[in-house]
Amino acid sequence: MEPITINNFTIYFENQGFKALNKWIKEHQPGTIFILVDDKTMENCYPYLMPKIETTARIEVIEIDHGEEFKNIDTCAGVWSALVELGCDRNSLMINLGGGVITDLGGFIASTIKRGIPFMHIPTSLLGMVDAAIGGKNGVDLGNLKNQIGVINAPVMTIIDPEFLKTLPQQHLVNGSIEMFKHGLISDRVYWNDMKASHNFHSDHFNSLIYQSALIKSDIVTMDPFEKGARKALNYGHTAGHAIESYLMEHPDRAAVLHGEAIAAGIVVESYLSVQYADLALDSYKEIKEWYNTLQLNLSFTDKEVLEMIELMKYDKKNTNGAIKFVLLETIGSFVTNQEVSNEMIMEAFQELIN
Ligand code: NAD
Repeated sequence: MEPITINNFTIYFENQGFKALNKWIKEHQPGTIFILVDDKTMENCYPYLMPKIETTARIEVIEIDHGEEFKNIDTCAGVWSALVELGCDRNSLMINLGGGVITDLGGFIASTIKRGIPFMHIPTSLLGMVDAAIGGKNGVDLGNLKNQIGVINAPVMTIIDPEFLKTLPQQHLVNGSIEMFKHGLISDRVYWNDMKASHNFHSDHFNSLIYQSALIKSDIVTMDPFEKGARKALNYGHTAGHAIESYLMEHPDRAAVLHGEAIAAGIVVESYLSVQYADLALDSYKEIKEWYNTLQLNLSFTDKEVLEMIELMKYDKKNTNGAIKFVLLETIGSFVTNQEVSNEMIMEAFQELIN
């Protein structure tokens, strides 16, 4: 698989990636290589990575607990302190080995320690491979509000090796696939059809779907690295989806959902709004809803809960002047940005989740 270049950084695949990593290490001679992992990627991914790194440099592993609840400034403070104690300097390299939590958090930590050290992402979850480790967005949550603190700063490189997925739990494979479906919805009807037809996350064919998804995200980011226009499309399903995630984090009495699961529900809500405001064909909406039903998420919300979520949507970073701005679909494969919709229609759209 050919490397993909986005403006100032490259995504490498499989062994080409580890070759590029070793070449970079040889050329730059980092004094210390810090590898950030969580407890799960330490157990499942670190043993696969380690023999592939060719270096005489000191390697220090920093391990954090897994989970979104640790993607916060307290964890950053702990890792910043560990880095300083372990002698991190501008000649150090940080490798973030993990899912989206590790790459978001590690990219932010590396971008801020000593005013920034070089870092690489090696995503080990499907969501990380097709989304989080591409595009240079790094950051952490603030309380229950997602990704409020962060920077846009590209890694030296991202290395995608689907081999890591062999140990990823099924629920997280489904979680990552949601963003792949989203890539089809916003930019490529054929890819959406291919995703719907694909059921085996471990086939060679699936590796090529991962590649195509990485390419779709990369093309959009290349066009619009700072999210002034086209990149907003990547947030399809995320205005409502992030509100669902934040709402459920604030209400631990309700079952938690994974990021992708919330986005899948957000996709249904925003597809319903697309029919109302952007002329998405009703048949296309039904097709999207049918796909959502196969996920069997059984999410439902009362009108009162939806009103609380509308308040949460006001924190969405795409908004301007306090108005909630949606990305909506015109067709499966094309979108419009900056759409305002009524609260009544948002409530109606949420009720569609259970139909
Ligand atoms: P995650 O990092 O929590 O990983 C999911 C779980 O899988 C974790 O328990 C992790 O330890 C485990 N895991 C990861 N790889 C494994 C492997 N190979 N084998 C066994 N276990 C493994 O979550 P995620 O779903 O990867 O990412 C979600 C995060 O990504 C969210 O915080 C979201 O905001 C962020 N995100 C960022 C961007 C971006 O552009 N920066 C885009 C999308 C999502």
